[in-house]
Amino acid sequence: MADLSLPRVKRLSAFVADQIAAGEVIERPSSIVKELVENSLDAGADRIEVRTEGGGVGLIWVQDNGHGMVADDLALALERHATSKIVSARDLLGVGSLGFRGEALASVASVARVKLVSATRDGGAGAHHEVHGGRLVNDGPVAHNPGTTVEVRDLFYNTPARRKFLKTERTEMARIDQVVRRLSLAHMDVGFGLRQATSRSADSTRQLALPPGRINERLAQVLSKAFVEESVVIDESRDDYQLHGWVGLPSHHRRQTDQQYFYVNGRAITDKLVGHAIRQAYQDVMFHGRHAVFVLFLTLPEAMVDVNVHPTKHEVRFRDARRVHDFIFASLHRALRDLRPSGSSGSIERTTHPDETLPPDARLSPRLQV
Ligand code: ADP
Ligand code: MG
Repeated sequence: MADLSLPRVKRLSAFVADQIAAGEVIERPSSIVKELVENSLDAGADRIEVRTEGGGVGLIWVQDNGHGMVADDLALALERHATSKIVSARDLLGVGSLGFRGEALASVASVARVKLVSATRDGGAGAHHEVHGGRLVNDGPVAHNPGTTVEVRDLFYNTPARRKFLKTERTEMARIDQVVRRLSLAHMDVGFGLRQATSRSADSTRQLALPPGRINERLAQVLSKAFVEESVVIDESRDDYQLHGWVGLPSHHRRQTDQQYFYVNGRAITDKLVGHAIRQAYQDVMFHGRHAVFVLFLTLPEAMVDVNVHPTKHEVRFRDARRVHDFIFASLHRALRDLRPSGSSGSIERTTHPDETLPPDARLSPRLQV
């Protein structure tokens, strides 16, 4: 007699499997914005427009002027594990693009109504492809400028339970805003526009316009004017490791860690070890319980860092974690120590105007100038 109470192994339906996979990548509307804007950046766009309605639940619309896609690729781009960015497992060791897993569009498509419209730069006709919950509803040729537009409507319309986990519209809007700001710092030569409408009134919008190429202006817009004035440039290299960017003076601290931007090979990440190295560098010069403000770019050989750790790619794994920690600590420690007024042995207290304490050329890293 078969034991009827024994749990049996069954294969999940494609729908459930898709939902599980989508859950890893698409946590909330801002995750979609991140994935779509990263795709635009990977496509070489230098102009990216983002619009949302209802905190991204009603609509997320991203348009770029990148290299676009041919009509035949649209359907494939929406499939899981379909990508133009890697071919073999070996490629995973040296990923130069932001994307490579080939699952973002498929994940979005399984939890929303998605329309892809794209045209390449060779002057050919554009095409569109629309799917609802992963099912094709419409496709064919359509006029479009070179580049791609992705429209995502009715997020989680087919999984209402997941909607309940979303925060208020205002919170989701703020997260989307933060995602665009974070990406924009690593791409100063790209222009970004963000317009967010609330569901209550189409007039009530929140806007962000980040023109390309003006570094100080972007830093001022994304962080603050004060940060531009009260920060020093970091530009250090040791062998094939480089660290550049801006760190706030110890007097320019915040109650939260919300203005800490760290990038590894152009990818925004959070990392305990990196956080520790930076905190340690500030330890003697910053009030206890306050947080530093910084924008830092660590560049190291791609083989020294594994980006395939987590579906959202917010985390990386370093081959030589100790070296990363020590390099960051030593670079910042030196920069902060050099700020110490001569003859002073105590804590750093900035008594002069920032312009007087910094050499004029320390205000802008020439490498980042475009
Ligand atoms: P991944 O970015 O990991 O490759 P995605 O699901 O995000 O996976 O995208 C799948 C593919 O669709 C990409 O590899 C790329 O070829 C194409 N694609 C997506 N968005 C764009 C875009 N904005 N411009 C050009 N191609 C795009
Ligand atoms: Mg992608």
